[in-house]
Formats: sequence, C-alpha cells, structure tokens
Amino acid sequence: MIMEVVSNAGQMQEIVMGMRRQGLSIGLVPTMGYLHQGHLSLVRRARSECDRVVMSIFVNPLQFGPREDFAAYPRDPEHDLALARDEGVDYVFAPVKEDMYPKGFNTQVTVEGALTEKMCSRSRPGHFRGVTTVVMKLFQIVQPDRAYFGQKDAQQALVIRRMATDLNLPLEIVTCPIVRETDGLALSSRNAYLSSEERRVALVLPRSLEAGRDLIIKGERRVERVRDEITERLAAERAIKVDYVEVCDGQTLADLAELRGPVLLAAAVYVGRTRLIDNIYLEV
Ligand code: AMP
Repeated sequence: MIMEVVSNAGQMQEIVMGMRRQGLSIGLVPTMGYLHQGHLSLVRRARSECDRVVMSIFVNPLQFGPREDFAAYPRDPEHDLALARDEGVDYVFAPVKEDMYPKGFNTQVTVEGALTEKMCSRSRPGHFRGVTTVVMKLFQIVQPDRAYFGQKDAQQALVIRRMATDLNLPLEIVTCPIVRETDGLALSSRNAYLSSEERRVALVLPRSLEAGRDLIIKGERRVERVRDEITERLAAERAIKVDYVEVCDGQTLADLAELRGPVLLAAAVYVGRTRLIDNIYLEV
C-alpha cells in the first residue's frame, strides 16, 4: 500500500469508515513527530497486530504550558514522512491546529486523582488534560482497535489507560518498552536540544535510575532508601537540576509503604533548559 497523508479530520474519518466496512483492524500510533526509533518501535508493534496502521503527527498546543517549548519543539515533516513510509505506515494523520481546535472549541477530558497529581503534573499543570483531550479526539477520528504508547512516558500511558477504562472506550491500549541509545539514554525528540556536553551529562538520568533498581535487586525494600540513592546520584551531577524523583506503585502511582509488586522508579531533570524524563518499571 502507498502511504497516504491526511490533514483533515473529516477525511480521516471517511477513510476509517471504509476500512471498518472491509473488516480491517486499525492500529493508531499517536506522536508529535520528529520521529526516532522509539516512535518506530510502536509502528512495528502496530503492524504486527493490525491490518492498517495510522500514525498521527500533531504537536498538540493544549499539552504545553505557557512557558514551555511549543514554538521551539523540533519539527521535520519531510523526514518524518520518509521514516513513516519506510516503516510501513499506511496513513499519516497530520492535522493543522485550527482543524483540531476550531474557534469555539471548549471541551476537555480530565482524569482525576493520584495518576494526575504527582510526577509530571506538578511541574506541568494542565499537561495531562491536554494529552487526554487530544488522544480522545484522535480515538474518535481514527477509531482504532488498538492504540500504541511508549513506556518512556509511563505516567501518560497510565492516564490514557485510565481514561479508556473509565469511558468504556472500545479499544486496547498497548504500552511498548523504552527504546534507548546504546549508552542507555532514552530516545526522545527533545534530545535534539542537547549540546554534546549536555548529552554527556544527561546520562546521569538512566544511570541513577539503574542504581536505584540495582538496590532493589540486591534486596532493598525501603522506598526512602531507593529514592535517596537516585536523588543523591542525580544531585552529584552539578550541571543538572532535579525536577522530581518518584518511587511508587507502577500501576496506580500511589505511595508505597514498602517495595513490593509493580514498582516504578521515575525521574525528571533539567539539563540546561531541556527537561528530560525517564523511568524503570519492575515487578518486585
Ligand atoms: P511523542 O512524539 O514524544 O509525543 O511520543 C509519541 C509516542 O512515542 C509516545 O507514546 C511516547 O511514549 C513514545 N515514545 C517516545 N520516546 C520513546 C522511546 N524512547 N521508547 C519508546 N517509546 C517512545
């Protein structure tokens, strides 16, 4: 199939209706573009499980705060389309802002509670409402059987899963493993902001989380001890600023009395002006 680029929501819905009539299953991979192997790993998984793959590329203004990097967010549509085509994406849905949020747009979807009260919610108020709103719109437009998200954004995946369950959305949410550089840094479109010195410094993020994980593997069960280990290792790198370090329940993000069951080690740091996140999920 030749990949088709669709920029209009109504047109996308018509194409989707055609696929549904033919009984084809649809996989959706939502992205903000500037594609890398992390995004493409979601496409590969979608291709292995669905008849047709739709990738959305949309830098969603609703999920950026007023002082965040919406305008500066890296964009390279031509390169993105070439990568999507090579990976076997069938449709790229790339709407313009005015089509997603026309004049008078006034409805948002909010997941309440612990899932949106800690971690990235603290430094990015309103972020997850922007995410759930755009993802809900994408679900309505593309009507996927399965939608693919990366564990890289662990909190986002849990929030979307919650929304899908709470609103009885007739689709499956699939979470895919974090794709990393060979030295361990998680791939992210925002890595493009890093100077070579910052790129070197950024490695402290995965290294510190690994140190926390190693403590647990060696038998540590005290939450504070593991959180302190990660925090201290991050703090030892003077060139970064810690946003948060969280050691919590890997499914609900609730605080833990001790390390048992699904556990998430997560952190966000500023390297220069670039905010990076990473996490490790483990069953204890
Ligand atoms: P973004 O374009 O950053 O909004 O990301 C689009 C999707 O790709 C989200 O579901 C992300 O979690 C996922 N993703 C981003 N980076 C990675 C990575 N390094 N490994 C796996 N998935 C990723």
